[in-house]
Amino acid sequence: MRDLSIDWNIRAELFRRYQNPVKMSALGATAGLLLLTLLLPRSAQQKQQLLLYLLGVSAYIFLFYWVIYPRFWRQRWIPFVNILASIVLISGAYFLLGKHSFAINGLFVVVIFLSGIFSYPLGAYFAAVIALLCSIAVDNFYSEPTEQQLLNQGILIIQFLITAHISGALGNLLASQVYKRQQENQDLTLLLNASLTATQSLNLNQTMPQVMQKIVSFLPVTYARIDLIEDGRLVPYGIASQRYGIEPWIKLHCYPNLTQLPWIKAAFQSQHSVQVHRDQIDLTPFWLDFNQFFSACTKTACVVPLVTSAQVVGFLSIGESRGQEREPIGKVKVEFLETLANQIAVVVENAHLHWQEQKKAKRLEVLNHIANVIGSTIEMDALLQQLYNLLIQVIPADTYYFGIVDWQKQVIELKMLLDAGERYEGLSIPLNQGLAGYVVRQRTALLIRDFQREMDTLPVKPVIIGKKDMSASWLGVPFGKGDDLEGILAVASYLPNAFDHEDLQLLSNVAQQAALAFDNARHHAEVEERARRDSLTNAYNHGAFHEALRQAVQSSQLHPHPISLIMLDIDHFKEYNDRYGHTIGDEVLCLIVRVIQQQVKSGDVIGRWGGEEFGVILEGASLANAFEVAQCIRNALAQTTLTASQGMSIPAPTISQGIACLPNHATSAEELVEKADRALYIAKEAGRDQIRVYS
Ligand code: GH3
Ligand code: MG
Ligand code: MG
Repeated sequence: MRDLSIDWNIRAELFRRYQNPVKMSALGATAGLLLLTLLLPRSAQQKQQLLLYLLGVSAYIFLFYWVIYPRFWRQRWIPFVNILASIVLISGAYFLLGKHSFAINGLFVVVIFLSGIFSYPLGAYFAAVIALLCSIAVDNFYSEPTEQQLLNQGILIIQFLITAHISGALGNLLASQVYKRQQENQDLTLLLNASLTATQSLNLNQTMPQVMQKIVSFLPVTYARIDLIEDGRLVPYGIASQRYGIEPWIKLHCYPNLTQLPWIKAAFQSQHSVQVHRDQIDLTPFWLDFNQFFSACTKTACVVPLVTSAQVVGFLSIGESRGQEREPIGKVKVEFLETLANQIAVVVENAHLHWQEQKKAKRLEVLNHIANVIGSTIEMDALLQQLYNLLIQVIPADTYYFGIVDWQKQVIELKMLLDAGERYEGLSIPLNQGLAGYVVRQRTALLIRDFQREMDTLPVKPVIIGKKDMSASWLGVPFGKGDDLEGILAVASYLPNAFDHEDLQLLSNVAQQAALAFDNARHHAEVEERARRDSLTNAYNHGAFHEALRQAVQSSQLHPHPISLIMLDIDHFKEYNDRYGHTIGDEVLCLIVRVIQQQVKSGDVIGRWGGEEFGVILEGASLANAFEVAQCIRNALAQTTLTASQGMSIPAPTISQGIACLPNHATSAEELVEKADRALYIAKEAGRDQIRVYS
């Protein structure tokens, strides 16, 4: 229940409620008078006057109740119009009826009484004065007042004033009762409503803003917010204001320390509600925080702790833009808030328990999963995908990355980087920079709850990777040591306070297992890769080369681009072998692969087609480009010499090359090989040491 200040709205409400009976009695009285007029023996002129008068009364009743009142019922002058009109009309009747006026004073009393009940006491006095004036005026109209009449008028004054006084007091009593009941109902409804909303779901992020909205609109207050304590910090769960409704707290970034705000600290320690006035705050350096915590226009505030059996779990805070001198946050409001806070505390406790259980179960499940799934996955891409799929379930974040240290290049190669759902490939971070570098170098986990607040105390300057946005919180754990694979597993969020110590533990656990699995996958990939290479030259073997060519042709069909193929054969290699020995011959084979490598792009594929014959796939290269490459290879080789064991310098052999291009000469891989081979044959036929394009 709240303070019983009776304001005009309540009187208006009263008036509105009882307007029907009043309306009906007015109509009834008019009808009665009409009947009386017709029945009483009177002259035709008098009857005419009376009918005119009754018409006036009806017109007024119609005008007032159907036109003026529905439009202006909230206006303060409404009852005064009614009072004035009633008395003037009664006086009119008084005037017309003349000696039949015995009941008129009674009617005046009734009007004064109703005015007292339905308007202010002031209205009743107003009615009394007007009625008196009218009564005297009518009395004096017919004759000079006699002594008896003067005495009567004196009695009338007392009668009217007493009526006004009593009815005013009675009206006050009635209004206060109605107001009280209304408020009680409203308080109970709000309490019930708010508790129902709060208990609707255990998702506090969803329910709490709605509860705050209810408080703001029905209590009402200017501003209401609820913050829960998480790791010694206040995390807002719902903020609502009269002006903007539910406010998105994410934008506010107000995550103060528990001890940072003096009023919060006081409420936390006393476990009782604390009232704050801005004047108290303005004098201290905290007032900026006060404005940030409440809205800038707040003048008075109240913080109610949410106390469960064990501890304070959060705070329900309201702010008022009306100053303290107007007592916007009275005792009753505070009591109401405390009741609500108790209920919310229970909900919060339940939600916490529920989360913890769920989180624990989920973590166990994920750890099991990781052991099973990651351990049995040897494909690198599949492994990274699995890792991501599992992590996203237990540690929700915006950015995930898994990096391996390359000590030689002094970088962390990011094997997986997902930022805001987007995948980034082939990135690496310098080892001596950023948080990741720090974690790996120091071999220590790093948890940053809120960059904004911790920027000054960070051990290193962060480096932005992925999306060009600064994260708000970050968690990175190192893995591996010594001979093991070393690296980092990190998560980041664009929200502050996204991670806690439990996440750190879990991430460390996952990282160790992922590192093992990654090592396995890497070995597996290495073995697979080795199987695709020629052991002498390290070029792709025949099968792998053919497969690469087939894939290139396939991709050129999806996204049309040319593919050139160079077939290359060493001239008179048999003789060369015979002259310099097979060891030198082998060296020549390796040399040729190296020379080709130097002349082509890193994505181009070099394969040993067989014996001393090689193929080079140039994706995206036109005939002219391929011819240029072939010439470069020929020239580079011509300038190379080999050194025999005795220090003797041996010239490199010459080569013949044949070129064919897709789509100019062929539509399939087989056809392309055939055409390039044909061109090579022609080069040989034409005398060797030359380049031929298929024609
Ligand atoms: P042409 O100009 O017509 O190509 O004459 P060629 O002697 O190069 O051609 P041929 O096909 O008659 O001989 C290929 C020779 O390549 C036979 C073999 O001695 C040599 N050869 C093939 N594979 C290797 C290898 O792995 N190491 C060495 N040292 N020689 C090889
Ligand atoms: Mg040859
Ligand atoms: Mg050959």
